[in-house]
Amino acid sequence: MEELAIFGGKPVRENKIFYGRQYIDQADVDAVAAVMTSDYITCGPKVKELEQHLCELTHAKYAVVVCNGTAALHLAALAAGFGEGDEVIVSSITFAASSNCVLYAGAKPVFADIDPETYNIDPASIRKLITPRTKAIVAVDFTGQAVELDEIREICKEHDLILIEDAAHAIGTKYKGQPVGSLADMTCFSFHPVKTVTGGEGGAITTNDEKLYRHLMRLRTHGITRDPEEMVHPTDALWYNEQVELGFNYRMTDFQAALLLSQLKKLPAFEQRRKEIHKRYNEAFDKMPELILQKEIPESDTTWHLYVLHLNLENLNCDRRQFFDALYAENTCPQVHYLPVYWHSYYEKLGYQKGLCPNAEKYYNEVMSIPLYYGLTDDDVEDVIHAVKKVVAYYTKLK
Ligand SMILES: *Cc1c(COP(=O)(O)O)cnc(C)c1O
Repeated sequence: MEELAIFGGKPVRENKIFYGRQYIDQADVDAVAAVMTSDYITCGPKVKELEQHLCELTHAKYAVVVCNGTAALHLAALAAGFGEGDEVIVSSITFAASSNCVLYAGAKPVFADIDPETYNIDPASIRKLITPRTKAIVAVDFTGQAVELDEIREICKEHDLILIEDAAHAIGTKYKGQPVGSLADMTCFSFHPVKTVTGGEGGAITTNDEKLYRHLMRLRTHGITRDPEEMVHPTDALWYNEQVELGFNYRMTDFQAALLLSQLKKLPAFEQRRKEIHKRYNEAFDKMPELILQKEIPESDTTWHLYVLHLNLENLNCDRRQFFDALYAENTCPQVHYLPVYWHSYYEKLGYQKGLCPNAEKYYNEVMSIPLYYGLTDDDVEDVIHAVKKVVAYYTKLK
């Protein structure tokens, strides 16, 4: 057997690869450079063009581009009217921003458990948590796979709830043939460098609701309006604008928008490559009794953001920490997505206790995400597979 690098053996590869990485080509660089010397470097024509493009891509009527995905979630929470006394049901396995937005708005996040096979929010868990105070659901398309939208929308209809879809992982994904972005009351995207397309930073909210759209636009710019119909003291004076509520400066620059427009041209290629790599991993790991493959629902045509390596610890002589460290030492560096949100010490201080979501907690102890991004070569992918199999072979109980 090959000696593991962590015990002094030769690593599978010399240089490290991480779980995600942006892909920037010369066309992206040129697109950004062109904007730098133009008339508008923020809030100009590129931002408008990006919003139009996102509408075409997602089939949503409206898109509001903002400075990052967290700002998108924050504005969605405010536009949804979250406030003191409201409860909002949130996925327990997600990036903290999905539930922080509920706190920003003064409401209370209530954590739903995950489906142990898809890792997405479990509609049965949502149903158990609904109270007269429940205002909304924040559902995350985890790893890029769409949540069970039919059932979740049904729950929202029955109980008059707002659905915010956190699609930070899921640009390009389709649910029953419809692109993510037009299927919830509001859908939030992130364009951080590890996501499928990037603007350095960036985010967007898409919606089909004109009222929500106008409100989001106003909140993006300080709560200030130029539309006399929205003013308390309308006038036809050309200089006049009026702050009618407390908003923010969450604008995106035009050079970020230009980068995103250029990136979106490559989205079909990004999607295809991510699907290819995901499929190759699945082929390599299928039927290995030490590993568990993520369940795929037939409704989701998924643009994969993450590949979850799920350990079947019953058949391994190690825990997740030992496996992670061994894989890391092979220079095929994984990351864990995610700590159950309410395990963060901040949430602990707010009074959330361990044991709330048993599936999420079990999941957290068994997983890591392995490298998945457009720029990986076939050789890189084979290195990752080699490294995983090497570590599995060392720790397997089934010798
Ligand atoms: C990345 C991410 C966010 C936050 O996006 P930023 O652009 O980094 O602010 C929110 N939710 C999920 C699920 C994410 O992965």
